[in-house]
Amino acid sequence: MIKDKVVIITGASSGIGEATAKLLAEKGAKLVLGARRTDKLEQIVAEIAAKGGEAVSQTLDVTDPAQNAAIVALAKERFGRVDAIFLNAGLMPSSPVSALKTDEWKQMVDVNISGVLNGVAAVMPEFLAQKSGHILATSSVAGLKAYPNAAVYGGTKWFVREFMEVLRMESAMEQTNIRTATIYPAAINTELLNTISDKAAAEAMQGLYATYGIAPERIADVVAYALDLPADTTVSEFTVGPANQP
Ligand code: NDP
Repeated sequence: MIKDKVVIITGASSGIGEATAKLLAEKGAKLVLGARRTDKLEQIVAEIAAKGGEAVSQTLDVTDPAQNAAIVALAKERFGRVDAIFLNAGLMPSSPVSALKTDEWKQMVDVNISGVLNGVAAVMPEFLAQKSGHILATSSVAGLKAYPNAAVYGGTKWFVREFMEVLRMESAMEQTNIRTATIYPAAINTELLNTISDKAAAEAMQGLYATYGIAPERIADVVAYALDLPADTTVSEFTVGPANQP
C-alpha cells in the first residue's frame, strides 16, 4: 500500500528523515524531500534514483510558511497529489534552564513547534479537498516524560503530542479521512546531538547514546508500518527505542 503513495518528508537530509526516505523509496513511494542542506538532499535523491526509486527535493526551512507551501506545490506539480506528510524536522540543543540559552529556546520553538504548524497549514487544504491524507510527526519520549536539560525541547515535543492528538480527534469528528501518527523515539543514533552547545549536557547525552542508541532505520520501519495500514485503520501513536534503554 505504500507503493505509489506521494509522501513529503521534512528534515530528510540526515538521520530519521534520510532513513525513512530510503526505506519508503524501496517500497515504491514517490518522495518529496525537504531540509536546509540542499547538497545532502541531492545526494539522497541520487542514491534513491540509482536504485530505481523516485524522489525529488527542494530547500525547505520549516520555519518559513512560504517554503512549506512551495514543497506541497512541488509534490503536486511532480506527482499530481500528496498522500502523506512526515513532519520530522527538529533540533535538540539541550541545556539546563539556568544556562539561559534563550536563542536556542527560540530556535526549538520555531523549528519543533512552528515548523510542524507550518507543514500542517500547507498540506491541510489538499487533504481536506481530496478527503484523505496522512499526517505523521516526530515527537520524542521527551514529549511523554520530563527529563533534565530538556525543559524547552521536551516542551516542544509535548506540544506536538497535544496537537496531533487533537488533530486526530477533530479529523474523526469531522469525518475528513485524515489520519495521524505521532512517533515518540528514544535514543536513535543520528546527528541530533550536534546542536548541543552546553558541554555537560552534550557529554551526558553522548554517554547515553553510546550506551543505548539504535539505528534510525528502526523509526523508518514504523513510518512504513503506519503508511501501510488500510485506509480505514489508524495506529496513532508509536513509542520506539532501544530495548535496553530504561
Ligand atoms: P538529525 O539531526 O539527523 O535530523 C534533523 C533533521 O531536521 C535534519 O534533516 C535537518 O536538516 C532538519 N532540520 C533542522 N532544522 C530545520 C529547519 N529549520 N528546516 C528544515 N529542516 C530542518 O536528527 P534526527 O534524525 O534524530 O531528528 C529527526 C527528528 O527526530 C527531530 O524532530 C528530533 O527531535 C526527533 N527525535 C530524535 C531522537 C533521537 O534520538 N535521534 C529522539 C526523539 C526525537 P537541515 O539541517 O539540512 O535543515
